[in-house]
Amino acid sequence: MAAEILPQPQARKPCLLSKIEAFQDVVSSAVIIPKEDGVISVSEDRTIRVWLKRDSGQYWPSVYHTMTTSCSCMSFNPETRRLSLGMDTGSIQEFILSEDYNKMTPASTYQAHQGRVSVVLFVLEMEWLLSTGQDKNFNWHCSESGQQLGTYRTAAWVSGLQFDVETRHAFVGDQSGQVTILKLEQDSCSLVTTFKGHTGNVTALCWDPVQRVLFSGSSDHSIIMWDIGGRKGTAIELQGHNDKVQGLCYASHTRQLISCSSDGGIVIWNMDVTRQETPEWLDSDSCQKCEQPFFWNFKQMWDSKKIGLRQHHCRKCGQAVCGKCSSKRSTIPLMGFEFEVRVCDSCHESITDEDRAPTATFHDSKHSVVYMHYEPTTGTLLTSGSDKVVKLWDMSPVVS
Ligand SMILES: [Zn+2]
Ligand SMILES: [Zn+2]
Repeated sequence: MAAEILPQPQARKPCLLSKIEAFQDVVSSAVIIPKEDGVISVSEDRTIRVWLKRDSGQYWPSVYHTMTTSCSCMSFNPETRRLSLGMDTGSIQEFILSEDYNKMTPASTYQAHQGRVSVVLFVLEMEWLLSTGQDKNFNWHCSESGQQLGTYRTAAWVSGLQFDVETRHAFVGDQSGQVTILKLEQDSCSLVTTFKGHTGNVTALCWDPVQRVLFSGSSDHSIIMWDIGGRKGTAIELQGHNDKVQGLCYASHTRQLISCSSDGGIVIWNMDVTRQETPEWLDSDSCQKCEQPFFWNFKQMWDSKKIGLRQHHCRKCGQAVCGKCSSKRSTIPLMGFEFEVRVCDSCHESITDEDRAPTATFHDSKHSVVYMHYEPTTGTLLTSGSDKVVKLWDMSPVVS
């Protein structure tokens, strides 16, 4: 009988389409213009540029505008072609782009913050302009009247901001590693809850309104998926980067999470699998396998006259175990561990080769990513690097 050939799962490998160079400084934010084969970039070199792809296949600027100070962040709404720019000085400046993307007209200015604007987010449905700044304020303005509607003082400098239109919840990720959930009203807001799961700064947030899950990326190299819609309060860890996570995007039609890190790594996570929460680490005075006491357990050590052992934790069962009972390492992809981690001997035996099948693919963008953007309609990924280069990648499925 001929062996059955099973179709391979759709593998996506980023394929470099184009490079945009010619910047004097790092591009702090950039977006792909859907349907237009264009890119809008804002750079620390104070330029705002709109790049359109020419017949030669190269991107050339159709708009080249120099601001008086550098731009730190932006939000672009393709429907209204409204470009909201967060400035180093604390103001937000808005422009409207012409239909052919050859012209940019100033629209309005908001004196939003004292100090650098860290994130700006325009919400068309609400006519709200949300922003956070170095002054630790989270503000929202009416984009029609220009009036400030409300403010909230955050615990630390905010580096990630997402908004759910349907329920009017704002997700605010900050430098202390915390994610704050706020319920916004027209002119007030209330604190819903805070999530603490990262040991480093929150560097990126991504909200999927369909699955109702929030992804947070951190300088501690990890990503956490917070299941908000499921109401079970589960938090799934994803460990697949060797450096600071710098950007996150969720492609809901393929159920893939794309993440980038500052070492140039691009990881594509298959989120169409049932993932498991990592266990709480258990506390014990002795190894939960061989019952040898740990070194701080002076009493038992004295009684049994043994030398204490170092406490380790099995990443699969969470038991406190000694080094001898956890000498083996394994990946546990369904728990988010794409790299080998410590497991106890009995868990090591229970993990099958099937369990070890990776749930993510790993790629190298060959530049230190500072910002990323994904456009689902074209399947194009944009990465901006510390090398002052913007790269465009085709993420379409590869038939294997
Ligand atoms: Zn032991
Ligand atoms: Zn174990």
